[in-house]
Amino acid sequence: MKERIAVYPGSFDPLTLGHIDIVNRAAKLFDRLLVAAIQNPGKTPLFSLEERLQILKSTFAEKPEIEVDTFSGLLVDYLRQKESFIVIRGLRAVSDFESELQMALMNRTLSPDTETLFLVPSARYSFLSSSMIKQVYQLGSEVPSLVTPMVDRLLKEKFGKG
Ligand code: ADP
Repeated sequence: MKERIAVYPGSFDPLTLGHIDIVNRAAKLFDRLLVAAIQNPGKTPLFSLEERLQILKSTFAEKPEIEVDTFSGLLVDYLRQKESFIVIRGLRAVSDFESELQMALMNRTLSPDTETLFLVPSARYSFLSSSMIKQVYQLGSEVPSLVTPMVDRLLKEKFGKG
């Protein structure tokens, strides 16, 4: 039987426990899950693409069903290249809904077979975002309960506390 492959694309700048919650839920539904960090020319990330890839690699190293990767350009082209048509996205509070719907419908317009699946994280991560995490560390505080120890350490290094 053909393997069911899903792609979870995102900036992951940086990866949070909210992203990991979605990865673990999605991995249960598919044979393989590709977690793919986006090289987005419109955004200047705090962590370089290589750093974001390294974080993903070490976080999911023990899970053979989870692969990590990077891509640039259109998601639908990346999906085609990976022989997948399933996009995983996380839905937090209502604020995610409008832009996620726009993106899902645009991807379907570009490639009609594309299906976007929205997964809901555990309630404790529902208000967690990478940008909020970055702000907290930038302002000199820390939230090690919402990121992995590696991300906690790298954020402290970035903001001069390491
Ligand atoms: P993007 O720039 O693609 O939105 P993010 O890294 O911010 O990249 O998010 C990637 C995906 O993960 C999006 O679908 C986003 O809604 C979801 N996500 C981000 N944070 C959380 C969270 N705390 N819980 C669940 N899903 C999340």
